[in-house]
Amino acid sequence: AKREGRARVCFFESETDQELRDRRLLQHDLRQALEQNQFLVYFQPQARMDGEVIGFEALLRWNHPTRGFVPPDQFIPLAEENGLIIQIGEWVLREACREAASWPRPLQVAVNLSPVQFQAGDLERSIHQVLLETGLTPTRLEVEITEGVLIGDFTRALNLLRRLKALGIRIAMDDFGTGYSSLSYLQSFPFDKIKIDRSFISNLEATPQSAEIVRAVLSLAHALNIPVIAEGVETEAQRAFLAHEACEQMQGYLVGRPDLIERYLDLVGVTVER
Ligand code: C2E
Ligand code: CA
Ligand code: CA
Ligand code: CA
Repeated sequence: AKREGRARVCFFESETDQELRDRRLLQHDLRQALEQNQFLVYFQPQARMDGEVIGFEALLRWNHPTRGFVPPDQFIPLAEENGLIIQIGEWVLREACREAASWPRPLQVAVNLSPVQFQAGDLERSIHQVLLETGLTPTRLEVEITEGVLIGDFTRALNLLRRLKALGIRIAMDDFGTGYSSLSYLQSFPFDKIKIDRSFISNLEATPQSAEIVRAVLSLAHALNIPVIAEGVETEAQRAFLAHEACEQMQGYLVGRPDLIERYLDLVGVTVER
């Protein structure tokens, strides 16, 4: 039994070492990714329940020279750990705003902000700068934040959100329902939109509880006059349920996958010569 125990410990230790090494390697590579143009911004359409596209969410992609595409869930935490997310996040914001400013149709563009961008640096100034530089009308920019932004220095985060809102930018609460205190944050700040987390939408058919939770979120949001977008809508059955419950908007593979903007040029009003 003793030997078994030791063997097991060794197994876990070596696995942890391996993971740690890999994490360091990725973190090292991340430092060069910006200068070497390895990042791309993908765009995913956001639509009304009738399918009419009203905007796009910018989603970061890292095309690693040897590993290929590394999922954001893997590298964003690393970039948050070493602070690189501040520069990377500003790059995404600039790319997304520049792209949106070039669209003939005045659609919205949504950009994800990391809690680290809120804690450090001068987020307000850099957003203001990007808006001036790209000429994007502030009301066309929506920033998506998770409750992580409000954990920590709550007052500072709240003041920053208020100043961003004063610039005309819209603020969406992302991943709604997954955290511990989503509800109390609704009380502290007038969010412009709530994004119901994908987990509730994917489970709509399978678990009756999910349908009840989605209904409850919608009725709460509507009582507070906050429009709701459902994430991860993949099927017509999900769309129909949400439309029936008066959900305002949807995003998901049913409308379109995240992709290079080239794929969506017709939607943004660029007529492509064929
Ligand atoms: P998120 O902000 O909740 O983004 C939604 C995720 O759901 C995206 O994953 C999107 O590709 C995926 N998705 C959208 N529709 C569907 C669907 O119908 N089915 C399924 N199965 N998935 C769908 P992605 O692009 O891998 O991004 C993962 C997370 O990485 C994002 O979650 C966000 O938290 C973070 N992220 C992405 N880009 C950025 C960025 O520029 N800055 C920051 N700070 N975080 C980012
Ligand atoms: Ca998001
Ligand atoms: Ca989300
Ligand atoms: Ca998420």
